[in-house]
Amino acid sequence: MAPPPSASPLSSAAILPFRRDVPPPKRPVPLAAPALSGRELGALAAVLESGWLAPAGPALAAFEEAVAEATGQPEALATASGTAALHLAYRALGVAPGDEVWTTTLTFIATIAPAVQMGAVPRFLDVCPESWTLDPERLRRDLASAARRGRLPRAVVPADLFGQPADIAAIREACARWGVPVLSDSACGLGATQHGRPAGDGADLIVTSFNGNKIVTAGGGGALSGPHSALLARARHLAHQAREPVAHYQHETTGHNYALSSVLAAVGLAQLPDLAARVEGRRARFARYQEGLSDLPGLSFMPEPGWARATRWLTVIQVNPRRFGADREAIRLALAAEGIESRPVWKPLHLQPAFRDAPRSGGAVAAALFDNGLCLPSGHGMSRAEEARVIAIIRELARPGRG
Ligand SMILES: *Cc1c(COP(=O)(O)O)cnc(C)c1O
Repeated sequence: MAPPPSASPLSSAAILPFRRDVPPPKRPVPLAAPALSGRELGALAAVLESGWLAPAGPALAAFEEAVAEATGQPEALATASGTAALHLAYRALGVAPGDEVWTTTLTFIATIAPAVQMGAVPRFLDVCPESWTLDPERLRRDLASAARRGRLPRAVVPADLFGQPADIAAIREACARWGVPVLSDSACGLGATQHGRPAGDGADLIVTSFNGNKIVTAGGGGALSGPHSALLARARHLAHQAREPVAHYQHETTGHNYALSSVLAAVGLAQLPDLAARVEGRRARFARYQEGLSDLPGLSFMPEPGWARATRWLTVIQVNPRRFGADREAIRLALAAEGIESRPVWKPLHLQPAFRDAPRSGGAVAAALFDNGLCLPSGHGMSRAEEARVIAIIRELARPGRG
């Protein structure tokens, strides 16, 4: 069709700063944009003026205290990242080449990567449909048969999932029978509770992350916390290059430079007081998504078992393509076309080429969650109008009765 005569390069649209009939361009909606508390600049100025630009000092000590409190543990060690905390945990637990380390197949690769780099053999266990986290029943059975074979794992590593806590009470009970330590990857579980206790509580070691996309951030960083002061002292020693407490440089083993800078600790400290409010914000958004979408056939939400209170760090849906009329990839692409970021649920580790030869136990539940699962944008600054756009785009795709 020929353009109307007025649509020349010098039409009003090109000359005037705005036109009332053209909506302003929509800004992109990221999956999990970070939030600021408003206290960060003041905290940064204070820490810079204090002169503590090293992984030491009062801001770092205060941050570690705040993390210990948030995770319900007597002690915490702040680290350069959640992945560094995991590496330190594996070292503190004495993981050696050839040891088995068992973990959930539905997690981020960083949960197990440091153990694999240390020569451990990963074994991937399926999740249970009620929580999408490590299945304690399967773990119990597998531990009993491993004990019969005389090959118990060096550690069992449950992971929280998009703000959903793992059932540490049940996992710990299964492991205690055989004396197997539990390391909880709670990198994305901060603020959640299980059995009325903070995510990860009950494990021997708990990892937290303060990466930029997490519910509370230090601009990068992590922590290791737990009830055993000897394990944490060991991790702290290794985080500071395993330097012995003498005047000259003396080392019984090699360590890492894994401690957190106090500059970043100051940022984390400025954020932590907002944790509870952010959890409420995420849960409220989840409720609005649920209200806007749950009547659609073939669409369901990540469950919340009775023993858990999730943070809903990300709102996660399951799409039954036959009943919904489109698959999760069609939804992802339709959102992406509008500048809205969503992301498939983790691809299970037992399906990753990096682990094609690793032993596993089940995996069908996690594989189906990957095939049909989509994380919806859930970042802090997202407006109600943006939520409504996400809901409208998804509703537009639903074709009940077809497909
Ligand atoms: C973010 C995350 C990590 C890694 O934390 P970093 O601080 O980014 O190193 C590990 N495991 C899970 C489940 C995570 O979500």
